[in-house]
Amino acid sequence: MSNAQCLVVVDYQKDFVDGVLGCGQPALDIESFVEKKIQEHLDARHTVFFTLDTHTEPVYSDSVESSSYTLHCRKYTEGWLPYGVIKNYMTHPGVEAIEKATYGCAELASRISASPIRDVEIVGVYTDVCVFHNAVLIYNTVPDAIIRVFASGCASPDAAMHSQSLRMMRTFATVVE
Ligand SMILES: [Zn+2]
Repeated sequence: MSNAQCLVVVDYQKDFVDGVLGCGQPALDIESFVEKKIQEHLDARHTVFFTLDTHTEPVYSDSVESSSYTLHCRKYTEGWLPYGVIKNYMTHPGVEAIEKATYGCAELASRISASPIRDVEIVGVYTDVCVFHNAVLIYNTVPDAIIRVFASGCASPDAAMHSQSLRMMRTFATVVE
């Protein structure tokens, strides 16, 4: 099982798609691409990780993140759940959802590191925040992993930041246009 593969779906949650911090159209536009990627990896029996940005009060109000973003992804609310058809995959036996309260998910990186997975594909939102942080975190935690980020599977409310962060990720990952 060398070079096992996985897919990481970063924060494709309602609050980041059409909720309080919604990307709007760019995030809606990637839904079918994200589903296609999930299906492709499940068919190949690869692990599919969902990161779930997860906040609770009053912890959130004391976090540094709260100075940049209003409260979002409150655990168990509708906004916390994956958006649209992607929600249906939450209970699929091949999908592992990991909650996180920071941009990057340390548990995800350490689980990949401890596994035979050395080929990581990434989609999700926002390209310049949680996708970027998780790609950097995985790169530094699992330096022998091949990382591919799909431009068509990522979205940000800021088109310029989307492009800039993809350009930055090219220093350590393959960005598939
Ligand atoms: Zn958050």
